Amino acid sequence: MYRCQSCQKSVGPGVSSQLVTVATRLTEFPARPSTQRYAQGRRVKWNDDPGGTGLQIARELRVCAACAATRQRRRPVLVS
Ligand SMILES: [Zn+2]
Repeated sequence: MYRCQSCQKSVGPGVSSQLVTVATRLTEFPARPSTQRYAQGRRVKWNDDPGGTGLQIARELRVCAACAATRQRRRPVLVS
């Protein structure tokens, strides 16, 4: 049971909610040495994560199925 954060209506028990991303931001991720695990034969080795830039969720709403269908057609707003 929850209240939809888009239409503010109360949704009954047993109905699942959905998270919809409404705003994203451009973020720089730092490089991380020895974080990605892989197997070479029976040995475990670690690769470096190079880092880089990407989108990060800035704001998301917990909405009902009807609101999720209308909101997922729109692209999230890019904030800084
Ligand atoms: Zn709703």
